[in-house]
Amino acid sequence: MRIVLLGAPGAGKGTQAESLVKKLNLPHISTGDMFRAAIKNGTALGLEAKSYMDAGKLVPDELTVGIIKERISEPDCKEGFILDGFPRNVAQAEALEVMLAEQNAPLDAALNIDVPLEKIVTRLTGRRMCKDCGTIFHIAFNPPKEEGKCDACGGALYQRSDDTVETVTNRLNVYTEQTAPVIGFYAEKGLLRDVNGDQDIDKVMIAMGEALGQQWN
Ligand code: ADP
Ligand code: ADP
Ligand code: ZN
Repeated sequence: MRIVLLGAPGAGKGTQAESLVKKLNLPHISTGDMFRAAIKNGTALGLEAKSYMDAGKLVPDELTVGIIKERISEPDCKEGFILDGFPRNVAQAEALEVMLAEQNAPLDAALNIDVPLEKIVTRLTGRRMCKDCGTIFHIAFNPPKEEGKCDACGGALYQRSDDTVETVTNRLNVYTEQTAPVIGFYAEKGLLRDVNGDQDIDKVMIAMGEALGQQWN
């Protein structure tokens, strides 16, 4: 199954992807995670991406489309994948269509996790991530058992440098102007499934299953 996760920053794409990976046994491909890994490893890609990410802007399409094209041609994507954070504008959505048409492997669904924008700032500023394994927490909505420590691996939790109030405002503007139109792109193709993301994490997961025609509980 080839799935795209849509939704504003902080809507819960990464959180839901963690469960989807286990349910569907497919690779999770997050452009944000790939850029953060590149920054951590000090690669040329990371160096270039960092300034855009810190400003809350989109990394240019040439870079982003290139890394996705490489990643989805890898053998573990043969049975499908869960794309999280890509495509983030209509040009990327079109580029993805071309890539998948070349492989004769069309998308099955675009799941749009819908959360009112006024709830997003609290989600993003309270987000904490594990520096070792990337597991996502929230100080109020999904706290770790022990403060500052990852439940999955014991690693230290950190706050992303772009999860500050100032950068979040820019990211939300970018979302409204450039990313929200991608919803219409997939609606026109009959691939869009809306999921209510404004409920408990477990309930969102059940709604995701329903949107994919599966029963999870
Ligand atoms: P969030 O899940 O909070 O929206 P991500 O981890 O997906 O954040 O992305 C973090 C940053 O990485 C974005 O603000 C942007 O700068 C960059 N980025 C991620 N995916 C893309 C993409 N598909 N196109 C351009 N930039 C991207
Ligand atoms: P995205 O990948 O879309 O940017 P994340 O999955 O990283 O979003 O979630 C953003 C923050 O909101 C995290 O701190 C996460 O723990 C929290 N979160 C995710 N889903 C929910 C939910 N259904 N209710 C409350 N908080 C949530
Ligand atoms: Zn961890």
